[in-house]
Amino acid sequence: MKKRIAILGSTGSIGTQALEVIKEQQNFFSVEVLTAGSNSDLLIKQAIEYKPNSVVIADENKYKQVFDALDKLDIKVYAGQKAIEQIVESTEIDIVLTAMVGFAGLIPTINAIKAKKHIALANKETLVVAGEIIQKLALENKVNIYPVDSEHSAIFQCLAGEFNNTVEKIYLTASGGPFRGKDYEFLKTVKKEHALKHPNWEMGAKITIDSATLMNKGLEVIEAKWLFGLSPSQIDVIVHPQSIIHSLVQFTDGSIKAQLGLPDMKLPIQHALSYPNRLKTDFERFNFLNYPEFTFEQPDRQNFKCLDIAYRAMDKGGNTACVMNAANEIAVSEFLKDKISFLDISEIIEETINTTYHIKTPSIDDYMKSDSEARRIAQLIIKNK
Ligand code: NDP
Repeated sequence: MKKRIAILGSTGSIGTQALEVIKEQQNFFSVEVLTAGSNSDLLIKQAIEYKPNSVVIADENKYKQVFDALDKLDIKVYAGQKAIEQIVESTEIDIVLTAMVGFAGLIPTINAIKAKKHIALANKETLVVAGEIIQKLALENKVNIYPVDSEHSAIFQCLAGEFNNTVEKIYLTASGGPFRGKDYEFLKTVKKEHALKHPNWEMGAKITIDSATLMNKGLEVIEAKWLFGLSPSQIDVIVHPQSIIHSLVQFTDGSIKAQLGLPDMKLPIQHALSYPNRLKTDFERFNFLNYPEFTFEQPDRQNFKCLDIAYRAMDKGGNTACVMNAANEIAVSEFLKDKISFLDISEIIEETINTTYHIKTPSIDDYMKSDSEARRIAQLIIKNK
C-alpha cells in the first residue's frame, strides 16, 4: 500500500523537495493533497504532474485561475486558509507534511492530529508556539510526529533502538550561518542580500534569515524540548560549520551517538515519510576524504542574541515562545522589506516579549490572541523606531 501524502506548502523549499522524493519513490508514496500560499502557477504545474485528489490555494484571488486550469483533470480545487485547515481531515490521507512557513501551520496541524493523521513536521513554529498542546493531542489521538528538520531527524535516528536508555543531553549542531565570526560593527551594516546567502543550505527566505540571526537554532531548541520530552538544561547547541554532523545524543553512560550526511533536506524528508523503513536512494554519498577536518565552536551569544532569547522564552513557558515567534515573524518580514536593520530583529523581539502580557497555561484561543497581540505590538515598536 502506498502512503498517501498531503503536502501543506508544496510550492516552498521543503514542499518542492518532498515532491522530488515522492517522484523518486513512486512505488511507496502517492500525493493526495497539495496546498500553497499564493504561487498559483507552480501549484497548477505540480497538480498536473502529480495528480492529487485536491489542491488548496490560500490566496482566494487565485482560485479562478487554479480552478480553470485543473477543472478538466478531475482535481478538486479549494481556496482560503479555512480550506487548508479542513482539507487535512480528509479520509484519503495517511500522513500530512507540514511545510508551510510560520504560525499559519498551527491550526492545520492541530486539525490533522485530531483527524488521526500522522505528521511529518517541518513547520517548527507549530511546536514553538503550542508544543504542550500538540504533544498532548498527539498522545490522545495516537498520532506520530516525525521530525523533518535535519537536526531533529538526526536525534530521532540516534534514539532508534535505545528504548528506555536515558538521555543525558543532546547537542543540536548549527552551521553558524553567513555571519559566523563577524563582530557587532559588521552586523550593523548587513543587508538582506548578505543574510539570504546561507553557506550550506538552500531554504525559504524566512528560515534563512532565522539562520543568520540564530533564531532558527533557538526555535529548534524549543522544538527539541517538545519532540523528545527534554528539559531545557538537556539541550545544548554547538557550532559545526561543515554541517555534516546533523546532531548528537549523549547517554547517561557518557556514550555519544551522532548522525551524519551531506547537507541535503531530501534525506530527512524521506526518512520522515518512510519511517520505519529506509528506502534506497541515489543521493550523493558522503566522502570522508573531502572533509579531512570537522570543527566545533561555541555559538556567539553576545552578538546573536536570539538564541538566548529563545532559551529564556522556553524557561518562562506559557505563551512566551508564542509571543517571541510572532514578533520574530514580523521583524523578519520587515527586515526583508529593508524597513529595519539586522540588529533590530532581536531588539524588537525582546521588547515585544517585555510588553506582552504573560499567560501561564494558555489554551489554543489564548495562543491565537497572543499571536495577534504580539504582532500588533511588534508593528508598533517598528513604527516608533
Ligand atoms: P518556503 O518559504 O520556501 O515555503 C513556504 C510554503 O508555505 C510555500 O508553499 C508557501 O506558498 C506556503 N505558505 C506561505 N504562507 C502561507 C499561508 N499563509 N498559508 C498557506 N500557505 C502558505 O519555506 P520553507 O520550505 O523553507 O520552510 C517551510 C517550513 O519548514 C518552515 O517552518 C521552516 O522553518 C521549516 N524548515 C525548512 C527547512 C528548509 O530547508 N527549507 C529545513 C527545516 C525546517 P507560496 O509558495 O505560494 O508562497
